[in-house]
Amino acid sequence: MPDQQPNPLWHPFADMGAVDGNRFVVTRGEGSYVWDDAGRRYFDASASLWYSNLGHGRPEITRAVTEQLEKLDAYNLFGGVANEPALKLASRLSELAPVPGSKVFLGSGGGDMVDTAVKIARSYFVHTGRPDKTHVISRTQGYHGTHGFGTAAAGIPVNAEGWGPPAADFSQVPYDNAAALEEEILRVGPERVAAFFCEPVIGAGGVLLPPDGYIEEVAAICRRHEVLFVADCVICAWGRLGTWYGIDRWPVQPDLVTTAKGVTSGTIPLGVLLVAPHVAEPFFTGSPGAPILRHGATYAGHPVACAAANATLDIYERDDIIPRGKALEKPLADALSGAVGHPAVAEVRAGLGFLAAVELAPDLLAADPGAPGRLHKFLLEEGVIVRSLGKGMAVSPPLVADETELDLLASAVPKALDRLLKN
Ligand code: PLP
Repeated sequence: MPDQQPNPLWHPFADMGAVDGNRFVVTRGEGSYVWDDAGRRYFDASASLWYSNLGHGRPEITRAVTEQLEKLDAYNLFGGVANEPALKLASRLSELAPVPGSKVFLGSGGGDMVDTAVKIARSYFVHTGRPDKTHVISRTQGYHGTHGFGTAAAGIPVNAEGWGPPAADFSQVPYDNAAALEEEILRVGPERVAAFFCEPVIGAGGVLLPPDGYIEEVAAICRRHEVLFVADCVICAWGRLGTWYGIDRWPVQPDLVTTAKGVTSGTIPLGVLLVAPHVAEPFFTGSPGAPILRHGATYAGHPVACAAANATLDIYERDDIIPRGKALEKPLADALSGAVGHPAVAEVRAGLGFLAAVELAPDLLAADPGAPGRLHKFLLEEGVIVRSLGKGMAVSPPLVADETELDLLASAVPKALDRLLKN
């Protein structure tokens, strides 16, 4: 139902002139489906924003959140203050971490953790006698959130531009070329480079899979030059790639891992940053005058968010959800096979984890830059929600989606693509 009145709500990443009066209002969710305000049902093939890994309306999470609200509704984590759900969660997250003994820093979401990772990386080098190591390298097409450092690291040009001068000491390398990372480290000078940010599979930038051997190579390059390897697994963790943290699909040891989204199955905002023990060490010596990380958000370790995360992890463990991200990668690729070779399509990217993208043909995009928006709309009319990208669409269904739901996607996509060519 179109809005009757203009509403002051300003949406992220939205052309508000077009949104106003045309909002898609979601009112209810259950399993892999959501309903709009006209009562229409949709397969949530984007898991909202890559995060409703368990689908919607899980009573176990609702119960845990409600019980926590009744017991202790809010409390901070500053200084020596703690709460039980945060302590429990940190222990569980550290036990699952790719680097044993990792410390756990909590925050409000993915971008919060990205900026925290930059500060911890730079601070680590300050406190280990290498204060000149401040430079951060990221990848073209990468997405690292919308905070200050995440914006400076942005690999999608439109997200990086138009905000005045970006934070200093950031540069980028082509996303698919490990040798280019080493060249850039040598160009800047290894004594100046603090960190390399890497999404194992680039998400918002177009579901770009790493070339074979890429992850192992960049991890080795970082190690060689004492550059901290930061795996940005905000999308890739929590089963999306079939493993707990995403980066643990490869035999590498990340120094920092940023995650958020699926840790609560998106129910309550929560960011998680894993810090490998050697990076955390200067802050944990206990000696007089040891450095203090003067950083942290009001809602860090919020007990209700941590209770939601603990309940989410319980379900991931009990129902063995995490491996589904790998088991479902071929069925998802099969579901999109109707787009392969379609005249409206340049490329279908799938086959690593339970996420995929359809990129539209360049001539179609040149003739109609609004084509991704129309594709999104046609799919909505088929009862399927996808994520619109600059050049097409992405899908990342809930990890609990089944064959019937993938069949819905399989039949809707070619129909919507056909309509793109006709309209
Ligand atoms: N990093 C990656 C890889 C992401 O995909 C995102 C969000 O999609 C972020 C960081 C930012 O997370 P948030 O939107 O929770 O700040």
